[in-house]
Amino acid sequence: MEVPMWKKLFVESNIPEKLAPLKEVSRNLWWAWNTDARELFEQIDPEIWEETAHNPIDLLDKVSYQRFLELEGDDVFVNKMNAVYTHLHKYLGDRKDLNGPHIAYFSMEYGLHDSLKIFSGGLGILAGDYLKEASDSKVNLVAVGLLYRYGYFKQTISVHGDQMANYDAQQFNKVPVQPALDQNGNWVEVAVELPGRMLKARLWEVKIGSISLYLLDADYDANREDDRFVTHHLYGGDNENRLKQEMLLGLGGIRALRKLGYDSEIYHCNEGHAAMIGLERVKDFMAEHKLTFAQAKELVRASTLFTTHTPVPAGHDAFYKDLFQGYMGSFAAKIGLSWDDFIMLGKAKPEEDHFNMSFLAANMSQGINGVSWLHGEVSKDILKDLYEGFLPEELNIGYVTNGVHYPTWAAKEWKELHLKYFGDSFVENQLDSDLWDKIYKVPDEEVWKMKKQLKAKMIDYIKVRFADSWIKRHENPKLISEVLNRLDPNALTIGFARRFATYKRAHLLFRNLDRLSRIVNDPERPVQFIFAGKAHPADKAGQDLIKYIVEISKRPEFIGKIIFVQNYDINLAKVLLQGVDIWLNTPTRPLEASGTSGEKGVMNGTIHFSVLDGWWVEGYKEGSGWALPMERTYDVQDLQDELDADTIYNIFDHEIIPTYYEQNEKGYSEEWIKVVKNTIGQVAPNFTTTRMIRDYQDRFYDPQASRYLHLLANDFKMTRELVAWKDKVATAWNQIEVVDIQLSDGITNALKIGESYPAKVVLDLKTLSPDDIGLEMVITSVGTNGQMELVETLQFEAEKAEGSVTCYGLEITLMDPGSYNYGLRMYPKNEDLPHRQDFKYLRWL
Ligand SMILES: *Cc1c(COP(=O)(O)O)cnc(C)c1O
Repeated sequence: MEVPMWKKLFVESNIPEKLAPLKEVSRNLWWAWNTDARELFEQIDPEIWEETAHNPIDLLDKVSYQRFLELEGDDVFVNKMNAVYTHLHKYLGDRKDLNGPHIAYFSMEYGLHDSLKIFSGGLGILAGDYLKEASDSKVNLVAVGLLYRYGYFKQTISVHGDQMANYDAQQFNKVPVQPALDQNGNWVEVAVELPGRMLKARLWEVKIGSISLYLLDADYDANREDDRFVTHHLYGGDNENRLKQEMLLGLGGIRALRKLGYDSEIYHCNEGHAAMIGLERVKDFMAEHKLTFAQAKELVRASTLFTTHTPVPAGHDAFYKDLFQGYMGSFAAKIGLSWDDFIMLGKAKPEEDHFNMSFLAANMSQGINGVSWLHGEVSKDILKDLYEGFLPEELNIGYVTNGVHYPTWAAKEWKELHLKYFGDSFVENQLDSDLWDKIYKVPDEEVWKMKKQLKAKMIDYIKVRFADSWIKRHENPKLISEVLNRLDPNALTIGFARRFATYKRAHLLFRNLDRLSRIVNDPERPVQFIFAGKAHPADKAGQDLIKYIVEISKRPEFIGKIIFVQNYDINLAKVLLQGVDIWLNTPTRPLEASGTSGEKGVMNGTIHFSVLDGWWVEGYKEGSGWALPMERTYDVQDLQDELDADTIYNIFDHEIIPTYYEQNEKGYSEEWIKVVKNTIGQVAPNFTTTRMIRDYQDRFYDPQASRYLHLLANDFKMTRELVAWKDKVATAWNQIEVVDIQLSDGITNALKIGESYPAKVVLDLKTLSPDDIGLEMVITSVGTNGQMELVETLQFEAEKAEGSVTCYGLEITLMDPGSYNYGLRMYPKNEDLPHRQDFKYLRWL
């Protein structure tokens, strides 16, 4: 043979025994929010650390044996390693026996670290932060998701500004996942029925401090080729693939937890994707405890919480009925329902032709919440079709405003400053706003220096990342050096980075290019803007926007003043949010359900400037940031955009820029530092995941778990009774007769303030008793926007009964003058109901 013959030779990495703790630490993502652990890995080899994008597993594979031998002999390193290792074990030890209900958390994506590509944007980062917080806050929680082979894409931008999406296959031995094994050491597998076959998935475990996240992976040889695709891409493939993914996450997710031996009290459905958890649990309750569908549903609802994240109806996942039936057709029989009844679980009205996952989630959940106060209100409107007869504001849809994980997002430098001034126990006591208040004790110069230092660090980082990507795409070298030279660590720097969905209105700033040019090019008071973000591969409009910004950034007047940095990921987000002076957000109201990136900024003293939408409605206080009004002025979007753009330019010109550049003889602006301090002292404390998880516990987990345990107790006694009662009421409901209504003249004509007027209603309750049926008068007024607004609900008393004929009475006294509407309605009454919409019967008389 004259040609070379190559055979494969594998050299496995080998870590000396003494350094074995490194391996264990690298396999618990706790390292990702622990500064000492991060520094430890970086110290092993700073170059490889960067090259592997801060992936310690990959790093340990790549480091030479020679280097390990050196480290083994380096006492300082070994001591530091042992300290980190001990810290991790102490941390885990403190979380062995936890109190409180056990939570099972389901999400389609998790943004934990860039090395584990199972997230695309805000929803995922939020879920990732939440798991880290659950660990820190000692919450008893297990999480379920999917392990994607390709995950979400890496973004590169061509010379022409086109977004190119690169999907790299993840090698699962290089990311922090490990096979989940059962007691016998076998790899745990689950299966979900697809037409004519089973879709199998094997389970991987991710360790996040004390929390386990289990990920289902269908990409192995137990499945047909096309089924292996199911877990290839996050939000990839067609609607049919999405349905398979959601079946796997929901049905498969519950099967996985059962195989692993979990029995949770609360099932938290983060967005509607996982809503089928409710169906699977109903099926299990029925099969194992011989319960009826209604009884099982009672239990499942009591123990399920649905968090919705989407403020537009079209954003909610829905599957065309025929497609849905093709996959879920056989499930109906398993829970004793006809197909028509089954599909109604995902519809508000029978004539709808799609099965809506948010409707399913809402129907199977006692608790429902939006992710900010405003989004809670918006969600009432989106889900109102499910609750006919109720006014939107009566709906039992609450909110928990999203937060961010402090140890992940605060810069190391800030963490040190916080420890110095806020005290050693600050991180554990983040909820104590008095501690944050101590920011006012920090000398102004120290705060200014900190912001400058982090900005300089960011500019350096961008220069490297920017030059690197521009060289790769063969950009003109002269242009590159011009951009790099113009980037100014002393200029007021504005950051804008997020998904390029059109509602985020990244274009707003560019409505008047002359004005923008004047703003950035003032030689005395220079300003620069840094942009980053990905557009969904199917979102042409979002990609066009990126292209437009890239084009503008190459115009002579904007070179080095408007920069687009490619591939927005967690690491870039950290650098930007810690480094810029202002974080800008300009969504179309009210489409930003919460938004979290600005919250990452405020804990780093980065001032927020945003439309009052999402979290900023609650966060903004005068003197601690800047805001555009919450109300829309125009219905026509283009006019609204014009107005908002103008307001933004004006706020820059008249407020932000003068405040920043009004620098004293020591070289800093006292007014600016005031705003920075207010940002940290007044805003940041309310938007941590510590506050968020506490809200979930107080508003949902704890009360729901306690009711659920009552429903379970004594062989489901309360469940059986409640369902029997609901049956009884449902059967008798339509037979209830209104015998008489007597309203005093005052009510039908005009009431005098402060005087009392009687109302009487006589009902024939037939087989029901006055204890079962309540009667109320609902008083509304017409608000400024022309919508009906609830003023008051007055309860009638059941006064006397003759047989089944019952007289209800009420004395009305109104104290505020005005014009009102009133209506009478009856409703089923039982103190075991958690809220009115739990049993949504309502009749207006
Ligand atoms: C925080 C974060 C988001 C979410 O940003 P919003 O402005 O809240 O939409 C998206 N992507 C990354 C990488 C983030 O860190």
